[in-house]
This record gives sequence, structure tokens and C-alpha cells, in this order.
Amino acid sequence: MEKTYNVVDVQEMLEKHPAIKGIFVTYHETATGVVNNLEQLGNLTKNTDRLLIADCISGMIVQQFHLDEWGVDCAVASSQKGFLLPPGLSFVALSNKAKEAVEHSNIPKYYWDYRKYLNYFYNKAEQPFTPAISIVVALKAALRQLLAKGLPQIIEDKQSIRKYAEDKFKELGFTLFIEDESIRGNVLVPVIVPKDIDGSKLTALIDERYDFTVAGGMGIYAGRMLRVGIIGEITEREIDLLIEYIKEVLPECKK
Ligand SMILES: *Cc1c(COP(=O)(O)O)cnc(C)c1O
Repeated sequence: MEKTYNVVDVQEMLEKHPAIKGIFVTYHETATGVVNNLEQLGNLTKNTDRLLIADCISGMIVQQFHLDEWGVDCAVASSQKGFLLPPGLSFVALSNKAKEAVEHSNIPKYYWDYRKYLNYFYNKAEQPFTPAISIVVALKAALRQLLAKGLPQIIEDKQSIRKYAEDKFKELGFTLFIEDESIRGNVLVPVIVPKDIDGSKLTALIDERYDFTVAGGMGIYAGRMLRVGIIGEITEREIDLLIEYIKEVLPECKK
């Protein structure tokens, strides 16, 4: 069963290796559905020179997120997950500590030199390179929609859809991949398929016959797992439809 990190391991590693300059962490881990606690890591890096750098790409919008309060120094998000948009834009938020680190950094860089971006942002309200303008325009519309609903409401709705989907899959004989509810995310519902079912065939048949696509497991979980995405426009109705479709194809997926 899937777990998050053990904070004592991280603490020990930091103490053992004073040269460590930062922690890289994935907030919501899309391969497994696990949400890693950022605040707990922030408590280890706050008031030190170490930076906490978080991949928040799938977690942003549908999970709580507090950059300053949690002590996150660099958070990365991108357009194609909770922002309701196609891929093409990424967003980076830096803490004051990270901005200082950027000033002192002597690693060779050009495209990734955040000084350029900050300078353009503060002095020209522009980007140093042409971004995907069409998606910037779409972002404005998407943000209007997201903010009208409000992030707390979006998070609550997604959590409720997650629980709804979990119950439906359990009724169908699937097993929840993450036992500990406190680390389950609102991005996707990972479930293990019953032992006598070929999960790859199941995802292939759903893809082929219906207007739905469900991701399978990765690595050792290929063929054994479904990852049912719930971000964006997915509601209980889509979950009901998916469950119907799975019931229809399941007899053909018996090993
Ligand atoms: C989607 C995603 C990314 C971006 O990966 P791509 O290969 O660009 O799609 C990175 N991290 C996480 C956690 C993601 O969910």
C-alpha cells in the first residue's frame, strides 16, 4: 500500500549532510495519488538557508496550498492540470528567500535565469521570451471561472467526488490503492483492479468504445491499477457513467 515520506528520514539526512542546499518534493504525486505534506518539510527548512522546492503541477487548485505559511520557497505549477487548460504554460512562485538565492546563484544558466523573468515582470510587466499567448488569454478566462467558484469550494467539491468515486469502485470489487485517507489527493482516484481482471485490457476497451479515457498504473502497477482523473469538469455523473462502462466491459477482461 502506498505511503508518504517519513519525516524522521528527511531530518536525519539533513543532519548527516550539512552540504544539502534544499529539498525537492512532489506535492501531489500523480503516479500514485499520494499527497506529500509540504508544511512538515517547510518546518525543517524555514529559518535555515535550505530551500524547499515543490512540484505542485497536479496538486495546484484542487489541494490546499499556502506558499508563505508552509515555508515553500519555490512552487511550480502548469496549465494542463487543475487550471482547466491545455499544456503550454508553467508558473513558478518564489519566496523572498528563493529570490535572494537566485541573486547569489552562480550556476551557468540562460533560459532558467529567474533574474531575467523578475526584472521583466517588475519593470516591464512582460516575459523575456514569448509565452504561449493563446493559453495566457485562455488562462484569464479559466481563472475568472475558478475564482468565481472560489478555491475552497473547488477543493470541497473535488474531495466529495473523490469519496464518491472511491465508494463506487469499492462496490465494484476494486481496492483503494492508498489506505491512509489523510494522504489521498483530489486529483485522481487510484484503484487496484480485481485479481482476475486484466487492467490493460480494461483501459484499452474503455478508450476504444466510449468517450472516456482512464489512465492505467505505471511501472510495477501497469495492468493492475486504474488512475481515474477527477480534476476539471468531472462530476458524479461522469463517475456513474464510467462505472457503467466498466461493468459493460468487465466480463471481457477476465484473465
Ligand atoms: C503532469 C505532471 C508533471 C508534468 O509532466 P509532463 O511530462 O510535462 O506532463 C510534473 N509533475 C507532476 C506531479 C505532474 O502531475
